[in-house]
Amino acid sequence: MDSYRHKGLRKKLIESIRQKGIRNEEVLEAMNRVPRHVFMDSGFINFSYTDKAFPIAAGQTISQPYTVAFQTELLDVQKHMKVLEIGTGSGYQTAVLLELGARVYTIERQRELFLGAQKILGDLNYKARFFFGDGYEGLPAFAPFDRILITAAAPEIPQKLMEQLAVGGIMVLPEGDRFGQKMIRVVRDTEEEHTRTEHGYFSFVPLLRGKNQ
Ligand code: SAH
Repeated sequence: MDSYRHKGLRKKLIESIRQKGIRNEEVLEAMNRVPRHVFMDSGFINFSYTDKAFPIAAGQTISQPYTVAFQTELLDVQKHMKVLEIGTGSGYQTAVLLELGARVYTIERQRELFLGAQKILGDLNYKARFFFGDGYEGLPAFAPFDRILITAAAPEIPQKLMEQLAVGGIMVLPEGDRFGQKMIRVVRDTEEEHTRTEHGYFSFVPLLRGKNQ
């Protein structure tokens, strides 16, 4: 499933991401282990190792590798942490989190993607917990989470997710509308207080409400 040619192309891609400013070696190494071509739509397989977002099912996108690296670096994941991911999509980012040793809970609102990502990650022997639902609700039964990563653009920090973040935990999300989004990193300092920092402009599909049968 993963050939020498794929490995070679992947190494070059990782090198280009490093050149773009990602310095966390653990993140780069984790990404170097994930065969992105397995997560791509068949029509775009030849572009798997170019640093761009591509269409996947249900009108969604697999994030640009640089963006995956950037969000993952900001998230500061340590081994065994409990991580909630909103927007499973292709499952590519899920695999990167698993490679870092996280225990991943991931929510997707598009059934086709929810099923597809489970199949791909299962075939690759990755173990995550998959949920079909609305990420705005989070997973109160499994809270608190050490880290929360949102991979679709939210108009503001979702309140219910803030409540499910452990004190001392970190949430990373693109905040904004379809005209522009800023990457936000939120640290929950106490039950009541959090600190937010901004990390440049990105472009994501929107975080939508409800689930889509
Ligand atoms: N990390 C994914 C990104 C996919 S794009 C990847 O690299 O493949 C963002 C995903 O968020 C889409 O699949 C979209 O369906 C999903 N999404 C949007 N709103 C959501 C919500 N409220 N709950 C769960 N998933 C949502």
